Amino acid sequence: MRIAIGQFQEESNTFVLQKADLRFFRDNQLLYGDQILPALSGTRAEMGGALEVLAAAGAEIVPLVAAHSVSSGPVTRETFEHVAREMLARLAAGPVDGVLLVLHGSMVLEDADDAEGELLEAVRRQVGPNVPIVATLDLHANISARMVEQADALVGYGTYPHVDMYDTGTRGARLLLAAVRGEVRPVVVFAKAPMIVPAEGMGTRDEPMAGLMAEAKRWERAPGMLSTSLFAVQPWLDVSDIGFSVVAVADGEQRALQAEGEARELALKAWAARHRFNAELLEVDEAIRRALVLDGGPVILSESADGTGAGSPGDSVAVLERLLALGVAERCLVSVVDPPAVAAAFAAGVGGEVNTTVGGRLDPRYSTPVPIRGRVRLLFDGDFVFTGSEFTGTAGHMGRTAVIQVGSIAILAMERPVMTIDPAYYRAAGLEPREAKIVVVKSALQFRDNYGPFARAMWVVDTPGASTANLSRLTWHKIPRPLYPFDDDFPPEIRSAVGSLHRAPRS
Ligand SMILES: [Zn+2]
Repeated sequence: MRIAIGQFQEESNTFVLQKADLRFFRDNQLLYGDQILPALSGTRAEMGGALEVLAAAGAEIVPLVAAHSVSSGPVTRETFEHVAREMLARLAAGPVDGVLLVLHGSMVLEDADDAEGELLEAVRRQVGPNVPIVATLDLHANISARMVEQADALVGYGTYPHVDMYDTGTRGARLLLAAVRGEVRPVVVFAKAPMIVPAEGMGTRDEPMAGLMAEAKRWERAPGMLSTSLFAVQPWLDVSDIGFSVVAVADGEQRALQAEGEARELALKAWAARHRFNAELLEVDEAIRRALVLDGGPVILSESADGTGAGSPGDSVAVLERLLALGVAERCLVSVVDPPAVAAAFAAGVGGEVNTTVGGRLDPRYSTPVPIRGRVRLLFDGDFVFTGSEFTGTAGHMGRTAVIQVGSIAILAMERPVMTIDPAYYRAAGLEPREAKIVVVKSALQFRDNYGPFARAMWVVDTPGASTANLSRLTWHKIPRPLYPFDDDFPPEIRSAVGSLHRAPRS
């Protein structure tokens, strides 16, 4: 049994100027063929889970490409073609019995809105109609009819924060193996509601998502159902086809046709709950004031509008500017992506003084550089390992990184954005969040799991940025109307489909 496996993940934010080119993937993870198993076996994200199940089943694994980038703007056509070509060339080298693709689901190309649909279509063309293709996806995926058509199964994270990446990899691999062995005949069913909601309000431990997900998972245990997923979609996508999707995988076409009505019902329940997906935001000065009157710490302030996990460049200094202006004398940690500031720190050397500006360089629409004068405490290569509940055991690469001390504020200046969901990136630079009064991160929700056990409080602050929770602050051109939250109280058109009915039956 020969099973091909590939990974191609980037969450695109169409409001971000910077396009994701091959360098973005190279800086994060770009592995070809034989490089994949040694690097990713034993890790705790999807690839690790999938590889473990495939190996345990005695499958001959055909590794394609494993490309993963931190979120950014749309991916360049050249980058997409390169990764797709490398995958297809390895698929063409010999017949396979099944294909597992580890995807995000919200990747947008500079010239096309549905990257995953295009990739699945190309892979389907290569392997033909009878080889099962299973894709795993992020809960923030924007599901298209094309993805549903081309895949035999789409399996999503059941949690946000995404603490089930590894489990999702194992679920996808098990479903693929069952399909390859002919034990099941998966068919994808989907229904999509015309709504987008802030990421801050879609945590699966909070209502309304907790209840909706519980219902989806009850349905998964019904006879003839193989998998159910909710894709609440990341909202920073100005594309013509966007919405909240319910996706199920049924065993056989009869069950799938029946499941379509059930998927539509669940999509209508998500629609009915739309006003309850709220983001609570605090003004920056108010958040700092409240933090300073609390006993102890740390208080985590998240600038989610500059969320590096949501594509933003990570160069906002909105909170830093206020900490400096208010003369905060307690220990604070702030991170910022700013290659020239890093270069200045490296030029000054450890112990040297830097007199420069930080932030506001990568996207001047949302952030203004802040002048600082400080001392360089530490310089290093910026490599660290995620140790929290997500991406566990995988590497993060900040590029050259400097700690610049300005009064009581330690600024972690890095060349490249990384997910700021895990204190590991501060700790790698010798900065301990537990010992600070205020810690600034750039994440909508995922930081809560990793900071929650020791944080005094955690608040999202309302700052400008490409991943703001205030969706009406952004300028939209392509989205379909009516669409919640820009329109409300209209009869929702729930679109639905049953996939793979057109393909030749398997022998
Ligand atoms: Zn996500």
